[in-house]
Amino acid sequence: MKKKGPNFIEQIIDGDISRGFKKDNLRFRFPPEPNGYLHIGHLKAICLNFNLGEKYGAPVNLRFDDTNPEKEAKEYVDAIKNDILWLGYKWNKECYASDYFEQLYNWALVLIEKDLAYIDSQSSEDIANQKGTPTKDGKPSPYRDRNKEESLKIFKEMHNGDHKQGEHVLRAKINMSSPNMLMRDPVIYRAMDSNHHRTGDSWKIYPMYDWTHGESDYIEQVSHSLCTLEFEPHRELYDWFLDSISPLKGIRPKQREFSRLNLSYTITSKRNLAKLVEEGVVDGWDDPRMPTISGLRNRGYTPESLKSFALTVGISKRENVIDVSLLEFCVRTHLNEEAPRAMAVLDPLKISIINYNENKEESVNFDINPQKPGQGKREILFSKNIYIEREDFQENPEEGFFRLSPGEEVRLKNAYIIKAKNIIKNEEGQITEVECEYDEKSKSGSNTEESNRKVKATIHWVSAETAVEATINIYDRLFKVPEPGKSQDLLSEVNENSLEIKSAKVEPYLASAKDGDHFQFQRSGYFVRTNNKKTLEFNKTVGLRDGWKK
Ligand code: ATP
Ligand code: MG
Repeated sequence: MKKKGPNFIEQIIDGDISRGFKKDNLRFRFPPEPNGYLHIGHLKAICLNFNLGEKYGAPVNLRFDDTNPEKEAKEYVDAIKNDILWLGYKWNKECYASDYFEQLYNWALVLIEKDLAYIDSQSSEDIANQKGTPTKDGKPSPYRDRNKEESLKIFKEMHNGDHKQGEHVLRAKINMSSPNMLMRDPVIYRAMDSNHHRTGDSWKIYPMYDWTHGESDYIEQVSHSLCTLEFEPHRELYDWFLDSISPLKGIRPKQREFSRLNLSYTITSKRNLAKLVEEGVVDGWDDPRMPTISGLRNRGYTPESLKSFALTVGISKRENVIDVSLLEFCVRTHLNEEAPRAMAVLDPLKISIINYNENKEESVNFDINPQKPGQGKREILFSKNIYIEREDFQENPEEGFFRLSPGEEVRLKNAYIIKAKNIIKNEEGQITEVECEYDEKSKSGSNTEESNRKVKATIHWVSAETAVEATINIYDRLFKVPEPGKSQDLLSEVNENSLEIKSAKVEPYLASAKDGDHFQFQRSGYFVRTNNKKTLEFNKTVGLRDGWKK
């Protein structure tokens, strides 16, 4: 791959260093909210932060932004950690915003003392109605000039759980005429009686995102706090909050923004992904059709392919939609290098070679992986009865069909040339078997005139004597439309045919595959052995070529 120059975030960091910022003081963080599983959009932020850590030799924290107890759960914390480790990244400290609740509360008391915050006792509707618009000033709350003793008293009562949710909120006192709507006295605390997955019911108030995020960065001494572009207008507030608790000791963190990853035919919003899980459209967050890290893993994606995808997409400030075929290209490229080749016959049709001696035992040689000649060869049994894919035979061949048909020849991969002679059908008229003749002198690699004889097509096969039954899950895109989630009705955009289950006959070699082992099935694509221990089952990761029909 072509080496890229520094991305704009790296340029910012390099600029800071050249102006005297100590490299040893660099620190980054990845801050997921544990309200769902990580998705392909998070991958971009993970790779950005951890790659910066690697490049500059700086620590990267994993921070759970756990301030919405109603939506968060330990299950998500565990899944997030598992996914990051699987990608091959190691965080420095495992942090939780909830560990800072006490400090944040104490700082909030300071804010009230400094007359930088007040208790508003209006309903949330009233507060919203007073906000104004970007071109029209907001209206100050009647509680804006409430004396600070009263605010302190109510805030402490909220902290003790004396007030119900919605009775009071704590707001920063900034500017009700600011052109930045977020600066119009944002709410920083609300009362909530909820069970938090870590702090239980010990807290009756919860801090809002903006108040929590920058101060958590400061507590952890994160130097560069990187987030997606929609947070650009939050930067002013981020800085205001840091100023409000000044003087600061040590590093003053700074927020910088990069563009989100948007992927065609895919959604990258936890809210929408949660809907697919809740509605039973998919079989959980880690369903192989889901654009979650765990879904992609079950689909057969590798950490290397996901990281190379993130690197290729790069980091910029421009919003765009990346074509999902780039993601598929990355996994195809990596598996082409890594995956052993095997033969699996989907929807099998029996072939008997009538002039082949029943008692003959022979095997043919296969490259385990032609990309890695050092891995050597594997022997595969050849026999009188074999299976080929039903698709590779046509009784009345359509124009341009060059595979097996009556009277025509085809080469069996790495074996012999066969010619179809008789078709055997059952009572319903379905073809159950095709009798063929083989050309004894045509064996691949024997270097005779016959073995070099060209025929129009080569097809794969498995020996019926040793073939093993397997189930193959073939996935298609989860959405029919290029930009799902834009309309109101996400569920109507779901592709109803995103999973097709096929039975197959596969080489016995595949029966010993372990969970997560990758293979290239000849002529078909890349497949991964799934977690199902009971039956032999494979998930299709991606086809050999871009087979997407526009
Ligand atoms: P969602 O909208 O799916 O809930 P989020 O931004 O609320 O996403 P968080 O768990 O808060 O999810 O995100 C953690 C980090 O991942 C944040 O820094 C966020 O900016 C980043 N992130 C989330 N989605 C994307 C995306 N599509 N592209 C790049 N970064 C993303
Ligand atoms: Mg979020």
